[in-house]
Amino acid sequence: METILELKGIHRTYTQGTATLEVFADANLSLNSGEVVALVGPSGSGKSSLLHIAGLLEAADRGQIFIMNKDYSTAKDAAKTGARRDLVGFIYQFHHLLPELNALENVSMPQMIAGAKKSKANERSAYLLESLGLAQRITHRPAELSGGEQQRVAIARSLANRPKLLLADEPTGNLDPETADLVYGELLSLVRSEGIAALIATHNPELAARIDRTVLMQGGQLVST
Ligand code: ADP
Ligand code: MG
Repeated sequence: METILELKGIHRTYTQGTATLEVFADANLSLNSGEVVALVGPSGSGKSSLLHIAGLLEAADRGQIFIMNKDYSTAKDAAKTGARRDLVGFIYQFHHLLPELNALENVSMPQMIAGAKKSKANERSAYLLESLGLAQRITHRPAELSGGEQQRVAIARSLANRPKLLLADEPTGNLDPETADLVYGELLSLVRSEGIAALIATHNPELAARIDRTVLMQGGQLVST
């Protein structure tokens, strides 16, 4: 089995004025291909910070971040940018779709930035959007979509470049419970069909229960439950 993400001894503090807040003291995690892991913990426990570090958006104070066995903790910005584009998909609580583009264009954009031809990109986008039940919505702009539909487009966009690793930060946190449940199920089945590793932050224990493994943020460490 292939290790996709490995976090070793991650340490992170925030300094504000004279106060220092230690978010993690020694966080360790290993994620294999095809594995879907829930990251749980109360609000403020450091879930978003950990995902930002794992996704190379933020640096840790200490520790190593391996993606596909390459250590990015000491890598140059260009290598990190390349890894974020080619290896990692992100989903946030808010969709961050481009308002002037329709659903298909929003999903094709990252593929074209990565060098795909428009026709190939659109084919992949249509497949992903159809898998998420949006076949009738591909020409709609974000403002013409419901919250659940917008989040489904964000899911499709995160998977567009066939990432090895998906990082999702409370991806259904803004949706009503019924829609959250549906969208979450669709996300899980798509992640499984793509065979990728996923780390999904959620503070909803019912959602976490539908996943392979749960890690809990506790006292600055990650505890397997
Ligand atoms: P979660 O996603 O679990 O709610 P976060 O990772 O957002 O937690 O935050 C963890 C802690 O770090 C919180 O106490 C938060 O206030 C603090 N924090 C997060 N980002 C910053 C920042 N940029 N500057 C200072 N403190 C921060
Ligand atoms: Mg958060």
